[in-house]
Amino acid sequence: MSVLIAGTVALDSIHTSSAIHHELLGGSAAYAALAAALTNPVQLCAIVGSDFPAEHRALLTGHGIDLDNVESVEGGKTFRWTGRYHDDMNHRETLAVSIDVLEQFAPKLNPAASAVRVLLLANMSPDNQIDVLKQCLGNPFIIADSMDLWINIARERLQDLMQKVDLFVINEDEAKLFVDTTNLIKAGHKLQEMGPKYVVVKKGEHGAILFGPDQLFMTCAYPLRAVADPTGAGDTFAGGMAGYLAGLGRKDFSFADLSNAVVYGSVLASFTCEEFGVKRLAALTRDEAEARLSEFKACTTIG
Ligand code: AMP
Repeated sequence: MSVLIAGTVALDSIHTSSAIHHELLGGSAAYAALAAALTNPVQLCAIVGSDFPAEHRALLTGHGIDLDNVESVEGGKTFRWTGRYHDDMNHRETLAVSIDVLEQFAPKLNPAASAVRVLLLANMSPDNQIDVLKQCLGNPFIIADSMDLWINIARERLQDLMQKVDLFVINEDEAKLFVDTTNLIKAGHKLQEMGPKYVVVKKGEHGAILFGPDQLFMTCAYPLRAVADPTGAGDTFAGGMAGYLAGLGRKDFSFADLSNAVVYGSVLASFTCEEFGVKRLAALTRDEAEARLSEFKACTTIG
């Protein structure tokens, strides 16, 4: 089943203690789309400038990602983000952001995109997320991701969005910031009270917690020996979840379906961390993902 992924497509510059890479393909929607495209047809909704490199476009289309809903602004500059990781790779700071074409983003969906049954609103402004959501007429299962920036500057719009989504995905620190508590379990439940039936709190190298209507599911992260670049791990996780759910070929999902999607998303995210940018994710095969999924399940099951 086809998945619609809306979010940012960016040129990322990434600094770690071992290397610096400039103008890599990035953005929340690029990672999420590549993850979902491993198993499903994907339609991408985003905006880029005319400086967006042809090789990045070719990489996306080469994975079967439909770019008909990606607006290209003649003379415009693509969104750019620069980040630097601390030595432990768990924390990073944003060094520079150039919003450019994102400022004029007014998403417009074609009929095929507006009819999808699984929608991922990857991280971008809640206004843009709501604009996309309003155009989806096929009563899709809606997943939304966000970040601290929007909690700080667009809290009310984010709250509006939360009332409309089925699954809200957010990282640990942002969950606590959003609902003003230091207790993660309380944070998950408070986020659910804001609207979504399901909430996933991502905990980086410590895994994720899924909050359902009356159950919790917890998973660890795949045990990687080395992390080259964790950029996009959260987006890959969300895209992997969307792809897993769409692959079930229906629109109503059980708690067990959501739990399996969390495990699958965690496995895909681990690949993203192995190399800079989308490099490892873009080279990933279904067999490699399946093999790691089996290994992951074996080391989280007794007997
Ligand atoms: P993650 O590591 O999963 O949090 O995602 C990193 C990606 O988010 C990078 O590829 C960035 O281009 C993208 N990004 C950074 N800031 C923003 C923002 N304000 N809105 C949307 N995407 C962003």
